[in-house]
Amino acid sequence: MRHRPLVSNPGSAEHSAHVPPTEPPLLPSCNGAPTTGSMIVQVLGCSGSIAAGCRTTSFLVDDDVLIDAGTGVGDMPLDALSRIEHILISHSHLDHILAIGLLADSVMRERSAAGRGPIRVHALPETIAALRTHLFNGVIWPDFTRLPSADKPMLALVPIAVGEVLEINGKRIEVLDASHTVPACGFAVDGGSAGWWVYTGDTGPNPKLWERLASMRVAHLVIETAFGDDERQLARISRHLCPAALGHELAHLSGSIDVHITHIKPGERAAVMDEIRQLGSPHKIRALEIGDVMRFVDEPKRAYG
Ligand SMILES: [Zn+2]
Ligand SMILES: [Zn+2]
Repeated sequence: MRHRPLVSNPGSAEHSAHVPPTEPPLLPSCNGAPTTGSMIVQVLGCSGSIAAGCRTTSFLVDDDVLIDAGTGVGDMPLDALSRIEHILISHSHLDHILAIGLLADSVMRERSAAGRGPIRVHALPETIAALRTHLFNGVIWPDFTRLPSADKPMLALVPIAVGEVLEINGKRIEVLDASHTVPACGFAVDGGSAGWWVYTGDTGPNPKLWERLASMRVAHLVIETAFGDDERQLARISRHLCPAALGHELAHLSGSIDVHITHIKPGERAAVMDEIRQLGSPHKIRALEIGDVMRFVDEPKRAYG
């Protein structure tokens, strides 16, 4: 069951980091964690908003960790939803959180019957406060941190901090700085010798991110570009990137990295990608697609030599 792409899209692509020409079979696991040396990141949603074929931000790491919980989560089969144990949230905006409560509702019966503990939702303290006040308040949605019962709830909200390295089911995930209109972060997932999978979250220009990435081996960078250059003023005040700002940001990243653009608004993809192509960046830049799969295969360590 593990490591099988969940959603497919005719335009999506499979990307490997450090994978030999004939890919070895991925290892099975019985406890939800990679047995060793392999990781897969699947794109469930990567659009700035909704329209037919567009889903908002969500990534699935292996089969048990969600990074952001946008509308893309709704395409997962129920049995796949029930395997999710951890949700990492970049910030409190609706396009990144709306599936948390719906997911809890969908899997509550099965998890309760199986006696499983809560799904752990990891977020900055300010994001947790926003979720409690504005979402799980009994008005917008039931409080699944106290349901089906206060002692056996569906959700546990776990505070994280920028710079912290989380150890989650065998995965190392570092919390990255982001600069947005609300407290926000990004995430870097350690793909072993294959390098890091890095997601910026929603962010405007942010020197701290590049300071940190300078000492990381980045295999894939997923970075937002929410607006076209014709809306650069809107991008500036809403703390997002436009292609011109993206160009300035990527100039801090040395080498030629696989860069995947996310959070483009529906209907603006062609125009935004055209402006990005005109940047003439040395990086390999493409638009992220629903169904894209990024595999990380760790090279085995040799006992001798
Ligand atoms: Zn946002
Ligand atoms: Zn967003």
